[in-house]
Amino acid sequence: MHKKLFIPGPVDVPDDVLKRMATPMIGHRTKDASDLQRDISKKLMQVMYTKNQIMLSTSSGSGLMEGAVRSCTRKRAAVFSIGAFGDRWYKMAISNGVAADKFSSEWGQPTTPQMVDEALSSGQYDLITITHNETSTGIMNPIESISDVIRKYPEVIFCLDTVSSMGGTKIEVDKLGVDICITSTQKCLGLPPGMAICSISQKSIEAAKQVPHRGLYFDLLEMYECIQKKDHQYPSTPSLSHMFALDYQLDKILEEGLGNRFTRHLEMANYVRAWAKEKFDLFADENYASHTLTTIKNTRDILVSDLNKKLGEHGYTISNGYGNLKEKTFRIAHMAETRLDDIKILLSLIDKLLGL
Ligand SMILES: *Cc1c(COP(=O)(O)O)cnc(C)c1O
Repeated sequence: MHKKLFIPGPVDVPDDVLKRMATPMIGHRTKDASDLQRDISKKLMQVMYTKNQIMLSTSSGSGLMEGAVRSCTRKRAAVFSIGAFGDRWYKMAISNGVAADKFSSEWGQPTTPQMVDEALSSGQYDLITITHNETSTGIMNPIESISDVIRKYPEVIFCLDTVSSMGGTKIEVDKLGVDICITSTQKCLGLPPGMAICSISQKSIEAAKQVPHRGLYFDLLEMYECIQKKDHQYPSTPSLSHMFALDYQLDKILEEGLGNRFTRHLEMANYVRAWAKEKFDLFADENYASHTLTTIKNTRDILVSDLNKKLGEHGYTISNGYGNLKEKTFRIAHMAETRLDDIKILLSLIDKLLGL
């Protein structure tokens, strides 16, 4: 039996979208391949509110995160971490020999504009990474006030991880001044895992030209130049299957209407938060609670694995806490094509199973 997924990726993918993955192959150096990528770009530019070049990478989101920090850091990167995925970005820098410092917030708290200002004012950094939506803690950073600070430092390349939020909430890339905005297919965009997406500014391209060792597969400059020279094609063979499905799913997202989609996500978030506060507690500072997933503090000391096993018998699955938070929290994702009615059914089932 298929279990309905309420985990923060991969998400359930509707059958019509899944079927597009089975589209017969085309050559990746054909005009059809160029047209496909160009169409996808145009649609993603709407979802991401940007005029920057869109690039696809056949990898999960982590590939482009590693590529960004490696390709565009000339001096030193300031990596802001509010949880597991921020920590991972720091590890990516260090393991690639990129000079970097990590600025951590207490888990459950956001990155503050003051922290960013203090770090960048030292003049040591020419690249900054921010997690928009931290999937371990359920925090959505105050990205507008953070970007207001980053704007004061025009030499700094602004990289933003929107892996678990793009397509689920409004992120205006150009208005925020994001240079490299990264996401992947298996979260709010509602597709199978396996493709990463970014927008990239001209400023980032100029920065990459000054970096001698950018790696190869995730060299953002090489990808960019290939797209320019070969009319939207890639240095290596991309997952055309994902591209067929992505092109189709983006039509569906735009048909729903971005505003409607964002409202739907927020309504689900509000519902789960209210439930969590009544029955357990929120892990995240509520002022910064995520619109796409909720991390719930396990105040009743339930066995999350036990609950999940019982939920599984009814055809549902939620997520345990991430890393150190494994038993201390559990997570309910409300992203992609999930509807408020699905959430209501899930939560009343949890109430019943736990006798709440
Ligand atoms: C899932 C996730 C990632 C990692 O993305 P992959 O596509 O699994 O590589 C990075 N950052 C955040 C915030 C995520 O939720």
